[in-house]
Formats: sequence, C-alpha cells, structure tokens
Amino acid sequence: MEDLKPLFPELNLSRPIIIAGPCSVESEEQVMKTAKELSSNGIRIFRGGIWKPRTSPGGFEGIGEIGLPWLKKVKEETGMLISTEVANKAHVELALNAGVDMVWIGARTSANPFAVQEVADALKESGKDIAVLVKNPVNPDLELWIGAMKRIYNAGIRRIGAIHRGFSTYGKHLYRNMPQWHIPIELQRRYPSLPIFCDPSHITGKRELISSVAQQALDMNFDGLIIESHCDPDSAWSDKNQQITPEVLNVILNTLVVRDETSTTENLTSLRQQIDRINDELLELLAKRMRITCEIGQYKKEHKMPVIQQNRYNDLMERLVKNGEELGMSEDFIKNILAAIHEESVRQQLEIVNGKNKK
Ligand code: PEP
Ligand code: MN
Repeated sequence: MEDLKPLFPELNLSRPIIIAGPCSVESEEQVMKTAKELSSNGIRIFRGGIWKPRTSPGGFEGIGEIGLPWLKKVKEETGMLISTEVANKAHVELALNAGVDMVWIGARTSANPFAVQEVADALKESGKDIAVLVKNPVNPDLELWIGAMKRIYNAGIRRIGAIHRGFSTYGKHLYRNMPQWHIPIELQRRYPSLPIFCDPSHITGKRELISSVAQQALDMNFDGLIIESHCDPDSAWSDKNQQITPEVLNVILNTLVVRDETSTTENLTSLRQQIDRINDELLELLAKRMRITCEIGQYKKEHKMPVIQQNRYNDLMERLVKNGEELGMSEDFIKNILAAIHEESVRQQLEIVNGKNKK
C-alpha cells in the first residue's frame, strides 16, 4: 500500500481532519438539523449510519435506503462530503448511486474477510474513485485489520484510511472498547503514508471521555477524528451515551491542542504519553489479576486449602524469568516484580480465607 492518494482532494483540509455526524440516520429532520449545525461550525465531512450492525437482535438496525436521499440533501444544501457504513454489495451499490463520497467498513465487518472481499469486489465493479476508511476489527488483530485494507487496495482503491475505534473486551472497564494504542502505533510505523483516524466515540462509549481520548490521538500524530454528533443526543436511537451536540463538539475541537509533529520535544511528549497509556493498561491488568486471585482465594477457603502453594509459585517464576529474559529483561527485575505481585495476591487471599475480604 505505497501509492496511496489524498483522501479528500476536493477539500483543502488541515490536520486534524474532522468527520462528524450521528451514529445513525434517523429522520430527515434530525439529519438536516445536525448537518446544518456541524456545517456552520466548519465541519466539512458528514457521517451517518444507514445500515447498523448490532450486537444483539431487536435493536435499531438502521433506517435503510430511505435515508440515502437525506444524506444527498445534506450534500446539496451544506456542501459537506457525505459518508456511511457499508457491509455488503447492495450497500455499496446503493451508497454509490446516492452520491456518497466516502464509505467506511465497520469493526464487525472488517473482522470478516468474506464480507470485506464482497465490499471490495463491489467497489471494483463500480469503477468509481471513492474514499474508503477501514475500522479496526473488533478483536485486537493488526494483521486482520491490514488484510482488510489490502483487500480494498487490491480492488484498485487508492484513497484508503484506517479508523482506530478500540477493541472489544469482556467485563467492566473505563472504556467501551480498549484503545490498545500500541496497535495503531504499529500500523503507523508500518504504513507511514496511510492516514489514520481515531474514533473516540466508540472507544470511550461516554461523552465525558471523548475529549481526552481525542487529545491522546492527536498527541500520537493521528491525521483525523471521526466523532458521533447528534442534534439531540439523549433521544438518539443508537449509541446515545457517546453522542454529543454539534455545539459541544465545537467546544472540544477548539480546546484540542494540535502539536507540531516536527518538534523534538513533542516527540518526547508523545513517547511519555505512550508510557502513561501503558502504565494505565498495566494497572488495569493487575486489577484484573487481583480479581482472579480473590476468586482462587474463595475456592481455597471453601476447600480448606492452604493459601501458599510453593510448587505453583516456583513453576510460575521459572517460566516468567525465562520468557522475560527472551524479551530482554533481567532475571532480578522479573523476580522483583513477580514477588511484589505475589505478595499482594497472598495478602488479599489471606483476607478472604480469614473472612475479612468479602469480594
Ligand atoms: C459506527 O460507526 O456507528 C459503528 C457501528 O462503529 P463500529 O463499527 O466501530 O462499532
Ligand atoms: Mn455508533
């Protein structure tokens, strides 16, 4: 993917490129009101989901093709470029006929090579030059993400971009989808000319966290942001907790700091921010480990087993020291870390066995 072309040559855009609009197209009124407000705040690219892949059946699955003329009207009346999600051949044909300027492939679709290939074939058949953004697959698999983009590339499309929207996880977390920043960073390293967008709406799942994740993305030199914006977020038919009004979006965009990518101190800032991120992830992992430890503690209590089982600890230490050395870390370092983690696990298990910890 070396000879990529500018995504939106018709617009003279500076970094970051902003794409905004509702999660779902709901009505002509909702679409036009949102688009006009966004446009008057200087947004040039409108998004709106016409077909919605939902995790569970029974939810709102998108307004369908009757919404396409509304997107077309947005383009005619505001001059904004219009975009929507496609997942199959019929979507591509209908979207292209409606004059859509950019399509994106959703996270559930990019995890499925058959579906991506169908979209790629339909794009090729249309012979149209269109921009295509590919969201990361729901699972943290960089090769699958790259594979999806290559299918689009092999169909002759040269206006390709990636969208980082975080990765699914199980259980309760701060974010709806974990950012796992090292994955998009590795993508940038491998494909420096591939434009990359961040979708803080789907990463956070919460309005209040959008601005901090958007800033983190800019600090990591992302090229743009795709943010869900709705004229009345509380009554949105999908993803209402993560949608913001065009007015709030404007405030957020005005407070974001766009850094000069060439300055060396900024490089340091970006590296430090990566360290901060990794530290947060380490903390989350440790907390997760402690929760499992507590479950084991409960089991040991119920089965009257001793808390400390030396053989298990020795095996674990031996394996991690070996793996750690292969990764370039010293034996002492691994032993110290493991000892600290183990000590805290034992302390928590003892509390459970002695009835102090009710977890
Ligand atoms: C969307 O953009 O509304 C959407 C469905 O996102 P994702 O594919 O990232 O879940
Ligand atoms: Mn959404």
